[in-house]
Amino acid sequence: MLDDAALASLAHIVGTDNLLTDPDALDRYTGDALAPSRAFGAEDAFQRLADAVARPGSTAEVSQILAWANRRRIPVIPYGGGTGVMGAVVPAHGGLVLDVKRMNRILSVDPAGLTVQAEAGAVLADLESALAQYGLMIGHDPYSVPIATVAGTISTNGVGYRACAHGPMGEQVVGLEAVLPNGQIIQTRDIPKYSSGPNLNHLFIGSEGVFGVITRATLRVFRIPESRQFASVGFDCFEDGFNAASELLALGIRPALLDLTEEDNDVTLHLLFEGFAEGVAAQAQRAAAVCHAAGGCSLGTEPTQEYWAARRDSAHSYQTAALGQPRQVRWNRWNRRRGFDYLHLALPASRVLEYRRRAGEILESEGIAVVEYAIWSRPELFSMLITPESGHPAEARRRLARNVDRVLKLAQDMGGAMEYCHGVGVKLNHLLARELGPAHNTIRQLKQTLDPNNIMNPGKLAL
Ligand SMILES: Cc1cc2nc3c(=O)[nH]c(=O)nc-3n(C[C@H](O)[C@H](O)[C@H](O)COP(=O)(O)OP(=O)(O)OC[C@H]3O[C@@H](n4cnc5c(N)ncnc54)[C@H](O)[C@@H]3O)c2cc1C
Repeated sequence: MLDDAALASLAHIVGTDNLLTDPDALDRYTGDALAPSRAFGAEDAFQRLADAVARPGSTAEVSQILAWANRRRIPVIPYGGGTGVMGAVVPAHGGLVLDVKRMNRILSVDPAGLTVQAEAGAVLADLESALAQYGLMIGHDPYSVPIATVAGTISTNGVGYRACAHGPMGEQVVGLEAVLPNGQIIQTRDIPKYSSGPNLNHLFIGSEGVFGVITRATLRVFRIPESRQFASVGFDCFEDGFNAASELLALGIRPALLDLTEEDNDVTLHLLFEGFAEGVAAQAQRAAAVCHAAGGCSLGTEPTQEYWAARRDSAHSYQTAALGQPRQVRWNRWNRRRGFDYLHLALPASRVLEYRRRAGEILESEGIAVVEYAIWSRPELFSMLITPESGHPAEARRRLARNVDRVLKLAQDMGGAMEYCHGVGVKLNHLLARELGPAHNTIRQLKQTLDPNNIMNPGKLAL
């Protein structure tokens, strides 16, 4: 609990209008898109409400807040769009939620250097609109563009629809400004490559706010492509589509979008080529030949055009039905169901097909259906949408949880990682040390050095 004196200090920093303590606001700011019923064993983390929410308007205010919280050992949970799906903003130890969305300015656009500098809380859709005036776009295009923020997507190192050509969010980062747990402000240089020491951007990329608060970022941007060509290719089986996708990348073909999906025994490879006209035409032509040789059959362009047009629908419906709603509204959406999970695993490409078979056998033997198999942006990034086929909801969810762990561990044992885009949050905490081995101790040592009082998002990354 924060006492009156503590709240007065915070109000002095951010102003009374930007310090929220009413139970309604605390409820709305507690947690993200993960409900306890989908957290499989991490339900205890959901017991606490945040004690207060501060909405800083500048880097200087963030710095003052962290210095203050560090002296008092008060947990600080950075909060962007609140769209994470792993519970990474759950205030597992109570404390202060730090909503950075007031810090949403687009500070500069450099069309020659192809970069943009924006504050941490800028929503990707707003960044997209601002860049469009310059004929530019960002390279990260997740479903959640309308609601996710710059710093939130950096901190989860998310993957989006253009990741085949442009990589995940972490690869968009050129430079960062961040506030360390003691309040010190640091900056990395706004240049894409240097060799004068390690690049500290990587301290923050995918770190879920445990090492400090990102306050601004300089990101790579791209020309809005002069040419665009969609292609949809059907395959008799996932393996043929997988081999075609691997061959495309091995040849050096880089579609913006590459998504191989198997649903109800229908296997479709969605491709989108973007760039200068001759390059697009050449890549599309060669890709068609590669897919044909691998057993693919052209389905025209319509399925992929429709899929592309609908890519942000889930974010719009989340925005309407859940975002900023009280916890019960967000959580009740899952209550009556037997549950599902959407696993996004990274594996060595050479083991993806073997993994698919072995994980599929485990799930089938436990009465859990795989509704969708996919690879997204590169052969190593493999996903499965799974749901129990039968059973009472409570029993089915327990069975699902047990078997999610089994198939995540299988991925780890086959040299892979249990998640490729959503982070660890509270949901996967229990498996992180298993995956990282002694490297988890290295992360712990870094944490102890930078944040000896463990104020930054405690309980995340199993720290
Ligand atoms: C409908 C829907 C669709 C989605 N589609 C995708 C998708 O296609 N691809 C994908 O990768 N993910 C997707 N997600 C997940 C989610 O959008 C991502 O995890 C996103 O990257 C989180 O951004 P956010 O701004 O909402 O961050 P939040 O959820 O607010 O926070 C995420 C993490 O970042 C930390 N953080 C936030 N701001 C800061 C800061 N300033 N400094 C330090 N740490 C900070 C938080 O503490 C937390 O650990 C989707 C989610 C929904 C609800």
